[in-house]
Amino acid sequence: MAADPSARRADAPSSRFRPHARREPWILTYHSVTDAGDDPYGITVSPARLDEQLSWLRSRRLTGVGVAELLRARAAGRRGLVGLTFDDGYADFLGEALPVLRRHGCRATVFVLPGRPGGVNEWDPLGPRKPLLTREDVRRVAAAGMEVGSHGLYHRDLTALGDEELHHETRHSRQLIGDLTGTPPEGFCYPYGVLDGRVAAAARSAGYGYACALSPGPLLSRYALPRTHISQADRGARLWAKDLRHGLRHGAVPGTAPACAPRAAGPVRTGGAR
Ligand SMILES: [Zn+2]
Repeated sequence: MAADPSARRADAPSSRFRPHARREPWILTYHSVTDAGDDPYGITVSPARLDEQLSWLRSRRLTGVGVAELLRARAAGRRGLVGLTFDDGYADFLGEALPVLRRHGCRATVFVLPGRPGGVNEWDPLGPRKPLLTREDVRRVAAAGMEVGSHGLYHRDLTALGDEELHHETRHSRQLIGDLTGTPPEGFCYPYGVLDGRVAAAARSAGYGYACALSPGPLLSRYALPRTHISQADRGARLWAKDLRHGLRHGAVPGTAPACAPRAAGPVRTGGAR
């Protein structure tokens, strides 16, 4: 059967929203995927909106993948990929996000909290309480072909911890996830997007290959990757603006070569991070 020419046109990037030259990896940050009702922290996107957002990416010839895959592909010179990350390890990932990702041929990184298996998001004082993945759920996420990364053990501000607790959060969470999935995770994600040079160095020395922040400022490196928070309000034009802003704000990320150390700087705290 001949291809439908209108379908080709629908897939082509709109001339209004032509992709800019992309030097930096673009990584999107999601949290919970379910009906977005009571959502004081803006961490919930409905499955229908996620579907719409992934369709928008596809219209711009971008495919969502996990961050480890994104970094490897870029090192090999491959373009056309965008990182998809889901922080906190909400239980709704399996039932709500995964089917949408599969429908679009996307993969993602899920940053889980192995100190709170089957728990809830107690760190968000306003709630609502959302269940987290159980140990068996984390295995199912990995078995579904998704990358599982560490968000630390308990969702604590790592810059406020002493060295011993900091190393416990980074190293022990890596060990627990490795025990669950059979593979030590490559990726770490700082709770609240908060880090400083000491915290980034701890993630590196714990054996991770990369770590995600939000807006890491002068700490920008492979161990402080910038990401873009995505909300229920983000549709075509807003997504395009966020993509453009990300491209203007962040240059090429130093440290795509494995031997880059995080730069020393004070703590970095950014909005929109949980
Ligand atoms: Zn978080």
